[in-house]
Amino acid sequence: MMKHNIRYSLLFLIILITGCTMEKKTDQPTPQSDPVFPKGEIITSDNFTGTVWVHMMGATDTTLHAKFGNVTFEPKARTNWHSHLGGQILFITEGQGYYQAKGHPARLLGKGDVVEIPPNVVHWHGAAPESEFAHIAISLNTDEGGAVWLGPVTDEEYNATQ
Ligand code: MN
Repeated sequence: MMKHNIRYSLLFLIILITGCTMEKKTDQPTPQSDPVFPKGEIITSDNFTGTVWVHMMGATDTTLHAKFGNVTFEPKARTNWHSHLGGQILFITEGQGYYQAKGHPARLLGKGDVVEIPPNVVHWHGAAPESEFAHIAISLNTDEGGAVWLGPVTDEEYNATQ
């Protein structure tokens, strides 16, 4: 009888502790995740619409032939139409946005998506209307040249993504 009492007491204690722990967990607010990479500085360039930040990373050496940085767009902000002589890869890290190659439908992008952009494909990338958007952009084969900038993505072209 004594053994049973100890067992029941222990069981009760475990249930009590588990209950308290679970209650504690649900009371905690969802933690806000900090961006993995810094936002950097606002880009002052006519090649973008809206506010865009860039944080360049790594050395611009001549061995890897790559240039890479974290790019953050406020809602509706986007690049102009452009292409890359050596191609580009985008790794989406925050929010929702779009990638569109000229003549193709826009692709909706979210955290974890990857976009491979072959050399000389005219395209744009930027944020969705209601969401900030961030991606790591890696420009490749930079010994072949950089970005070739074209005109802005008009509101008409941007709104056609909806
Ligand atoms: Mn690009």
